[in-house]
Amino acid sequence: MLNNDQLDRWDRDYFFHPSTHLAQHARGESANRIVTGGSGVYIEDRDGKRSLDAFAGLYCVNVGYGRTEIADAIAAQAKELAYYHAYVGHGTEASITLAKMILERAPDHMSKVYFGLGGSDANETNIKMVWYYNNILGRPEKKKIISRWRGYHGSGLITGSLTGLQTFHNKFDLPLSPILHTEAPYYFRRPDMNMSEEQFVAHCVSELEALIEREGADTIAAFIGEPVLGTGGLVPPPEGYWPAIQAVLKKHDILLIVDEVVTAFGRLGSMFGSAKYNLDADIITIAKGLTSAYAPLSGSIFSKRMWDVLERGTDEFGPIGHGWTYSAHPIGTAAGIANLKLVDSLGLVDNAGSTGAYFKQAMQSAVGEHANVGDVRGEGLLCAVEFVKDRDNRAFFDPSEKVGPRVAAALLSRGVIARAMPQGDIIGFAPPLCISREETDIVVDAMKGAVTEVLG
Ligand code: PMP
Repeated sequence: MLNNDQLDRWDRDYFFHPSTHLAQHARGESANRIVTGGSGVYIEDRDGKRSLDAFAGLYCVNVGYGRTEIADAIAAQAKELAYYHAYVGHGTEASITLAKMILERAPDHMSKVYFGLGGSDANETNIKMVWYYNNILGRPEKKKIISRWRGYHGSGLITGSLTGLQTFHNKFDLPLSPILHTEAPYYFRRPDMNMSEEQFVAHCVSELEALIEREGADTIAAFIGEPVLGTGGLVPPPEGYWPAIQAVLKKHDILLIVDEVVTAFGRLGSMFGSAKYNLDADIITIAKGLTSAYAPLSGSIFSKRMWDVLERGTDEFGPIGHGWTYSAHPIGTAAGIANLKLVDSLGLVDNAGSTGAYFKQAMQSAVGEHANVGDVRGEGLLCAVEFVKDRDNRAFFDPSEKVGPRVAAALLSRGVIARAMPQGDIIGFAPPLCISREETDIVVDAMKGAVTEVLG
């Protein structure tokens, strides 16, 4: 085993970390937590320190750490057949079985699953299929995609463009031109404090209508959104938002891509966010909770009506020119099967609903009245606390004060991992779905202490 000095040196000398301040890291100024183990909701680092992971990695380790059922399924698959591709009709039992299990859980009108590796590549697949679909239908102009500010859909070229957060665009020449952004359904940050929730929904709708009008409906192919905004701040939609948006999309024949990378398989207390909000998706993106991150795997689930057009396209133009070497990798799909069985047998979807409601209520009671807490919100096992300089006008702190990161650091010193979300002073919680009420009490106590330490 490497000793701590070697780990530090090799890490700085050889390893390019994602989403990291590279210069600070190279100078040894940023976190260098090297994680060595995990069990349940806890991880352990190289110094033997245990922390309660209240963000489930990157909201993905939904069944918790150390599940031998999934590890055993991965090992068994690797021994039997580590890999075979899925091109030109090939497959493995694991991939076929998992596709069926996903469709048994997805809304009824969904029809087929394409497997990728992560959320970004799945959304990349989705945009290509939307373009293919409109080409097959003889509408080559209908190609633009509408996303929302504060949406998160990945960090590739197209998917980083879909993402509506500045850090993912700056100095990367993004967003690319076929991608447009509209208002985020973020009632707490509504443009006019006097707007009711209903008026704010009407405002989101009129912004969308105006964008469609400006660009021309015959140039717009699809709208993409997360049922509950994730990385953009863990924001549940205002009442009535989704039905109103869907009505606009249907009127203009615009497809709906529901990005459920965070929300599918229980996070919101329902198997899919699409079911919870009654979304009539044309495509649903899945990843994280599909394997609880025990192996990289994502999926794009296509509706029957979309699938029929894709099939027709291949009759006209031949095999579809799209695929990765690792599409439907059997080790990933074997992990997915074992994971979904655990989600069912442990009752994790129900736990996310009931423990999530308990957790949010406890968080509200613990810190909701603090002079610098503007909002405590959540749905299922997603919960966010948003800080403001002044509760009356919801003024932001100066970013140089780093309130979010300081609260996250104070939480960590109390043994709890939460995430300072990338835009605004927002602390996000998204623990494994197996978390117990007693464990959420630990998180809430730590948050109370952390807020007092940083903000008095
Ligand atoms: N969509 C959503 C909603 C996500 O939250 C994420 C990742 N946080 C992605 C897509 C991208 O997934 P990945 O990081 O696996 O590429």
